Amino acid sequence: MFSGKTSRLIELMERHILAGRKVTLFKPEIDSRYSENEVVTHKGIKLPAVIAPTDERFGEFLAARTRDSNVLGFDEAQFWKPSSRLPQHLEDLANSGRTVYVAALNRDHFGNPFRMTVDILAISDEIYTLSAVCSRCGSDAIFTQRIINGSPAFGEIIRIGGKDLYEPRCRNCFVWPSAQKRITDL
Ligand SMILES: [Zn+2]
Repeated sequence: MFSGKTSRLIELMERHILAGRKVTLFKPEIDSRYSENEVVTHKGIKLPAVIAPTDERFGEFLAARTRDSNVLGFDEAQFWKPSSRLPQHLEDLANSGRTVYVAALNRDHFGNPFRMTVDILAISDEIYTLSAVCSRCGSDAIFTQRIINGSPAFGEIIRIGGKDLYEPRCRNCFVWPSAQKRITDL
C-alpha cells in the first residue's frame, strides 16, 4: 500500500495503448474506492476499468470480456478469492498469447502473506517489487499497519480504507499482533 503499484501497473499498460493494442484493466468489486469505470493515465489516456466479481462467477465474467483484448491488467489481485481460480485464468490468458499484468499486495496488516499473491508470484514470468516509505522513520516499508484511534489495530483482513486507516511501516517499526492473532493456517 502507498508503494505506487497501481501507478506502475497503469504505466505498463499505457505503453500498450500507445502501441494501439486493446487493453482491459480489472479491479475487484470489493474495492468500493473505485466507483468510476475508467482510469486516466499519466499521459492523459482514458483506460476503462472493469469491476470484476472475485468469486466463482469470475471465470465466465472474464471470458466475456477478454475475447478482443491483447493486454489484461489486474489491480489489487490479493482480493480475489480462491474460488475465482484467478491464477489458473491468468495462466490461460498468458498461454493464449496475451500480455498479463498483475498488481498485488504481499502481506495483510497482520504481517501474513496474502495467499492469492503467493500463488500468482509463483507463476509470474517477471516480478517487480515496490516499497512504500515508512511513516515512522523514512526507511523502505514492506508492511502495512492498520491504525485505529492512533494505535495499531488488528481485525478482519479485508477492509478498504485510505490513509486514515493504514500506514506503511518498515520491519523495525511494524507492530506485530499478539501470537493468537497470527493466522497459522496459511
Ligand atoms: Zn520505520
